[in-house]
Amino acid sequence: MAKLNVTDIKIELTKNPKEKPNQEALGFGKIFTDHMFIMDWNEEQGWYDPRIVEFGNLSLSPALISLHYGQSIFEGMKAYINTNGDIALFRPEENFARLNRSAERLALPQLDEKFALTALEELLKIDKDWIPTEEGTSLYVRPFMFGADEFLGVKASSNVKFVIILSPSGAYFKGGLQPNKIFVEDEYVRAVRGGTGFAKAAGNYAGSLLGQKKAEKFGYAQTLWLDGVEQKYIEEVGAMNIFFKVDGKYLTPELNGSILPGITRDSIIKLLKHNGEIVEERKISIEEIYEAADNGTLEEVFGTGTAAVISPVGELFDGKKKVIVNNGETGEYSKKIYEQLTGIQLGKVEDPFNWHHLVK
Ligand SMILES: *Cc1c(COP(=O)(O)O)cnc(C)c1O
Repeated sequence: MAKLNVTDIKIELTKNPKEKPNQEALGFGKIFTDHMFIMDWNEEQGWYDPRIVEFGNLSLSPALISLHYGQSIFEGMKAYINTNGDIALFRPEENFARLNRSAERLALPQLDEKFALTALEELLKIDKDWIPTEEGTSLYVRPFMFGADEFLGVKASSNVKFVIILSPSGAYFKGGLQPNKIFVEDEYVRAVRGGTGFAKAAGNYAGSLLGQKKAEKFGYAQTLWLDGVEQKYIEEVGAMNIFFKVDGKYLTPELNGSILPGITRDSIIKLLKHNGEIVEERKISIEEIYEAADNGTLEEVFGTGTAAVISPVGELFDGKKKVIVNNGETGEYSKKIYEQLTGIQLGKVEDPFNWHHLVK
């Protein structure tokens, strides 16, 4: 199979460019740019027909295999206009590497990670004017892959599509970081070891919706998931990993196959260590956190993920036990690490790990 390169990408620009949205009212995931990238795969040819075309509906069979059996994966990252006016991404190689790990688990084909990144860069250059520049805004990048056979049998699809769409998104927190209230879920579980928890597989999110609804019913923003075996150890929150500052040290659950290995999580661990902090990746029981709260050593709690970067947690509640963290206010270190990471993303501060990726 021939290796694809940038000159293989067919570009068909739209004749009807859309009006750019008002940056004050972007929200998340509702507005899409003028173009998208698509390529197809089959067993004989491998990946073929890479193209950048007008953003629009796909024509798909009602027998589409992935609609029925969920052979579908995705990624999420952000593009920014940095302080020099250039397009920047944050560690995008990690997203394509993770997409390939998800693909392997869902029996989808491997991508050429370099080519996928090149395709994204070409798409970003074409839709550059869609990248919002107001503080806290960004262009959300959603690569995804799904089985495209028209077939009702349960099997790995022989035809696959890979698509990248772009969505200008608003500031997650308007007017500074705000703490969230989190519901500790001890009835439903999100994932189990040996399953697909480490993959960004569509079905993981379908399975989490009922727990999310329950949290909302109690007046909580998100669900804290416990492990799928004993429902005792902390896993993660919604689409975020979680950190606890206890007695001056930073604790986060170790990756165990059922937790999504967040790129923000990895970046925060590296930055904390770079800043001279102590980080422990290990099993953390919910009881340990309740005890720390009771004896006054629980200092801060925050979630980490691409969407919010850092999302402080002000309260934990499991239906019986309620923990107020840091008086329900954003912690000092949450603010500091947020400034540091977003500063690197925008090219404003020292980038000790070369994470700022320029698109030229
Ligand atoms: C995407 C995601 C995260 C965060 O990953 P990042 O790479 O930091 O955005 C955490 N948990 C789940 C379940 C996710 O889907």
